[in-house]
Amino acid sequence: MTGTNDLAIQLKEHFGFDKFKGNQEAIIQNLLDGKDTFVLMPTGGGKSLCYQLPSLLMEGTGIVISPLIALMKNQVDAMRNFSEEDGVAHFINSSLNKSAIDQVKTDILAGKTKLLYVAPESLTKEENVDFLRDVKISFYAVDEAHCISEWGHDFRPEYRRIRPIINEIGKAPLIALTATATPKVQHDIQKNLGMVEAQVFKSSFNRSNLYYEVRPKTTNIDKDIIKFIKNNPDKSGIIYCLSRKKVEELAEILLANGINARAYHAGMDSSTRTTNQDDFLMEKTDVIVATIAFGMGIDKPDVRYVIHYDIPKSLEGYYQETGRAGRDGGEGMCITFYTNKDLQKLEKFMQGKPVAEQEIGKQLLLETAAYAESSMCRRRLLLHYFGEEYTDENCGNCDNCLNPKKQVEAKELLCTVIEAVMAVKENFKTDYIIDILLGKETSEVQAHLHEDLEAFGSGMGEEDKVWNAVIRQALIAGYLSKDVENYGTLKVTDAGRKFLKNPQSFKITEDNDFEEVEEEAPARGGGSCAVDPVLYSMLKDLRKKLSKKLEVPPYVIFQDPSLEAMATIYPVTLDELQNIPGVGAGKAKRYGTEFCKLIKVHCEENEIDRPEDLRVRTVANKSKLKVSIIQAIDRKVALDDIAVSKGIEFGELLDEVEAIVYSGTKLNIDYFLNEIMDEDHLLDIYDYFKESTTDSVDEALDELGSDFSEDEIRLVRIKFISEMAN
Ligand code: ADP
Ligand code: MG
Ligand code: ZN
Repeated sequence: MTGTNDLAIQLKEHFGFDKFKGNQEAIIQNLLDGKDTFVLMPTGGGKSLCYQLPSLLMEGTGIVISPLIALMKNQVDAMRNFSEEDGVAHFINSSLNKSAIDQVKTDILAGKTKLLYVAPESLTKEENVDFLRDVKISFYAVDEAHCISEWGHDFRPEYRRIRPIINEIGKAPLIALTATATPKVQHDIQKNLGMVEAQVFKSSFNRSNLYYEVRPKTTNIDKDIIKFIKNNPDKSGIIYCLSRKKVEELAEILLANGINARAYHAGMDSSTRTTNQDDFLMEKTDVIVATIAFGMGIDKPDVRYVIHYDIPKSLEGYYQETGRAGRDGGEGMCITFYTNKDLQKLEKFMQGKPVAEQEIGKQLLLETAAYAESSMCRRRLLLHYFGEEYTDENCGNCDNCLNPKKQVEAKELLCTVIEAVMAVKENFKTDYIIDILLGKETSEVQAHLHEDLEAFGSGMGEEDKVWNAVIRQALIAGYLSKDVENYGTLKVTDAGRKFLKNPQSFKITEDNDFEEVEEEAPARGGGSCAVDPVLYSMLKDLRKKLSKKLEVPPYVIFQDPSLEAMATIYPVTLDELQNIPGVGAGKAKRYGTEFCKLIKVHCEENEIDRPEDLRVRTVANKSKLKVSIIQAIDRKVALDDIAVSKGIEFGELLDEVEAIVYSGTKLNIDYFLNEIMDEDHLLDIYDYFKESTTDSVDEALDELGSDFSEDEIRLVRIKFISEMAN
């Protein structure tokens, strides 16, 4: 038997942690004692350790069943880091070839392997079952166990077969772990895994550092998001969109507004996807726009905000996704944009699925909508959904608590609701009860002959919105309950019956109004991303034409990213044009008119709704650094001295100067060039650029040969661009 102190020592020795987090120690002890164990712990709570440590202390091999094939390798690597023996952890999934599997089996039989990760579909393979039958199993761990339940947000049919397979392989204690803890899902998991007797360890799901806010989603959403990001510079953030298309569109729009965002979704080629994910993890970019495919197992501790562009399909999903903010306990802002139009869209998507699945999907959606529309404490609602009572009056960290709505007395209203629920024998859902209250003769009401009830029409004095609020808040307060087994029919609790006999004050807040948001802007023409390919190629043609006429290379006029941005945000005046990256006042004046004209005509002909609100990026954006560099060059300060005085590398200074001249500001650096370069050298490079069709420094280096340095080429190119383009 392992004593308490020993466990702490083992923790330190194997994992280097000083103490256990939350319930970890009790959980581990329970498993070591050979008992079935059920763990409900929020994301980031440290579930893995609950089976990793025991595996090292117990005889035999622990089997971890996990659906995340993509993450198995990471988990195995992490485990190997804690050990000298590579064989200590392995995985078996469909990505392994025969010889790799043989190696795994050899290590297991040699007793080296303490932890074996398997995907459920590999576990069910006969050859694997046969093999494992001869292995000493220390325990089975089912990670992400909510996948068992149709009521989870991530149902996997193969998970249903885990119990029978385990029985075939051989008996050992079982530990199931999940971060999804609605009572319904919890019950499903325990029943299906045959572990109703298991000891349950449930951590609080309250994440007090997370700030929850729901905002109305209007046509201004992109602008709102841009503003939010700009107000939170240098912070890491995730923006979730429902569709891949939206992900790409939004990422483009952010880029066009000077936000260096990356996109991530399952439809991208895997190398781009990995690069983008790594850029986010390595902080080469602050913002990632993603579908919910992004984030499973991502362990970035300092994500400061999570924005939901679209309403999540379930509160489980919402909790998981928002849970990726503030894992280190620091700031974590969770902002959701909501319109109930999105609900209708989502319901439409579900058509075509089996009816039962649709029904479940709808219920989950309704819960999310109720959450979004409520003006009660978000934390309290969320925790209530996960079966946890949050009793503080004001959490101080959600929009509704920070801006409380006035409460109104709803004693009478609640009595009316309770009577109606009882009148229909507690056999109907919220929608139906509201139909009864409002006296709507729907076909369903008629079929049940409910028009004759006294309750029918008893609530005609109030709108359905009010009744919704009363019912939801009565659920939270415990006067009503929902029968989850039966798609959410409403029941009256004992407290509700008492209330009816002896009514007390019952104050509610009116729901927030999300119905009057504007029509969403129609999707702009062309392609799956925000760039308008037709306009883009027209702009390129115009640039070619001008370049011939003015005898300057095309890139001197506008560079490709500038044209892309124009084909994304459709500037039609010189002012708007200056919001385009790489376009300053000088350039806009010199070349802009024709481009604006072209864009204007294109928009009119194709009836394009220009996102003119996107003019968040302003000219004042020219950073202080750039302005002071321009001033120093005007005073003829040597460039290397400027770099020193600004505390930047010479190359970085050249980056800045290039950006300045490329966006159309004229700079005269002759004083510096004449000092450091001989005249022939300078002219050679200058002439090269006059002839060349590209401004690439690499190509210039190739062409000019090793007598010329990169810095020289860049310096002369600055002179050239400045004189030719400006
Ligand atoms: P979950 O699976 O519950 O989302 P993980 O098992 O991935 O969480 O753990 C989250 C993070 O917490 C990991 O970085 C892990 O190393 C860390 N962690 C786990 N247990 C401890 C502990 N006792 N002390 C410090 N850090 C821990
Ligand atoms: Mg985990
Ligand atoms: Zn609150």
